[in-house]
Amino acid sequence: MTEPSRPPTTPTVVAPTPDPLTPERDITHRHFRPGEQVVVLKGVVGGDLWGDSMRVVTPSWHTPTDEDGWRLRDPDGGRQTYITAHPRYLAHLSRPCPDCMIYVRAMGDYLLPKYPASDHVVDCGWYTTTALGQLVHVNDARGGR
Ligand SMILES: [Zn+2]
Repeated sequence: MTEPSRPPTTPTVVAPTPDPLTPERDITHRHFRPGEQVVVLKGVVGGDLWGDSMRVVTPSWHTPTDEDGWRLRDPDGGRQTYITAHPRYLAHLSRPCPDCMIYVRAMGDYLLPKYPASDHVVDCGWYTTTALGQLVHVNDARGGR
């Protein structure tokens, strides 16, 4: 993964795709710390993974899962600059992290063969943000914990 952010001029195609990996991650709340740069993986562009790059701000309750989450600052979030996410949605960008690298690699192995390089951003449709600024993975929105 070389460029985690969405290229602003590239058209986006929403391609709902199962995500068998993120819901199965065993990542504790303490795995992350304020100030760290993280990415929420969202799809594929140009034969590589892409996602939203954000900064960890402070602990915050993640109401969709009723578990400890993290408040994140999304510099491209517009109206929703601050959102709250569950730790398993996040992967470290700011430091080499074996746990997160395994996850990102597995996501690449799973997704990249499905969506070979094209000039679209493929959004796999995994995440929505509630009106209260809670980021919800499709699996958690269904209550399938
Ligand atoms: Zn990590």
